[in-house]
Amino acid sequence: MRLFDDFAAVRADFDGVDFALVPTMGYLHEGHLSLVNVAKESADIVIMSLFVNPMQFDESADLDRYPRDFDRDAALAADYGVDALFAPPDGEMFPMAPLTRIRVEGVADAMEGTNRRGHFEGVATVVAKLFAGLRPRAAVFGRKDAQQLAVIRRMATDLSFPVEIIGAPIVRESDGLALSSRNVLLSPEDRAAALGLSQGLFSAAAAVASGERNADRLEAIALDAMITAGAQPEYATLATAASAEAAPRLDGEAFLAVAARVGEVRLIDNVFLRPDGSADVGVRLDGPTMLGGE
Ligand code: AMP
Repeated sequence: MRLFDDFAAVRADFDGVDFALVPTMGYLHEGHLSLVNVAKESADIVIMSLFVNPMQFDESADLDRYPRDFDRDAALAADYGVDALFAPPDGEMFPMAPLTRIRVEGVADAMEGTNRRGHFEGVATVVAKLFAGLRPRAAVFGRKDAQQLAVIRRMATDLSFPVEIIGAPIVRESDGLALSSRNVLLSPEDRAAALGLSQGLFSAAAAVASGERNADRLEAIALDAMITAGAQPEYATLATAASAEAAPRLDGEAFLAVAARVGEVRLIDNVFLRPDGSADVGVRLDGPTMLGGE
């Protein structure tokens, strides 16, 4: 695997090559690595980017505490067959404090947009810089961040980025907890409380299979499960898949998204729901994860 830390060097070697980009903030887990497999299916070459983007953190404590281990990430990426790892220092990503920011209206306003001010401007601006600076043919993003995926799809369309945006399934631990780099920060008690997020979403998906379509009732199922487990929910919202806007009823493709604080850690999760009663809750690993836990 080749290592890069500047945009121009990647372009010099990969311009015109059919490559898929997998953007990450590192501290890799099987969720990230599943994106690599999806990328391999759609392109000849896979380039992973690793950049802990300060612009998308609204709390400096969250940025400071975000787990980082470059050597471990580089070894894992190489093992999984990533062809090149692009890990720019802050000065390469932001040679000057950016005066230009990308704001995707509507799609970025609810849920994470309300609860983390400036978050999606930070995400969209850095993803746009990755697209412009690296020129991938495709880019793969996890449905774990369903609203982020909707924001990026819309940004790519609005700004005519010639990049195919590919969504990949949520990877979960065997007990249902969605993999997240932040899970390493959970104490054993916090981890039990964190299960309330996925349990509530699975219960809501079961209610949809039994005929429930009302957003308030689906959201209440998710909220109750989080509170019962000991998590502190920030929101449970049924949102339309494409525009990520709150939907009063499940009458098109949608996702039920939740965010909660568990101890000091903020977690998000979602399930994809369809009006025919079917759901996509992601995939579960059979055994222990490489980050520990179940
Ligand atoms: P992050 O490093 O958390 O910014 O995530 C980088 C990419 O990995 C994003 O596209 C995420 O949606 C995706 N991702 C993170 N966790 C998971 C997961 N559990 N399953 C699938 N994709 C994930």
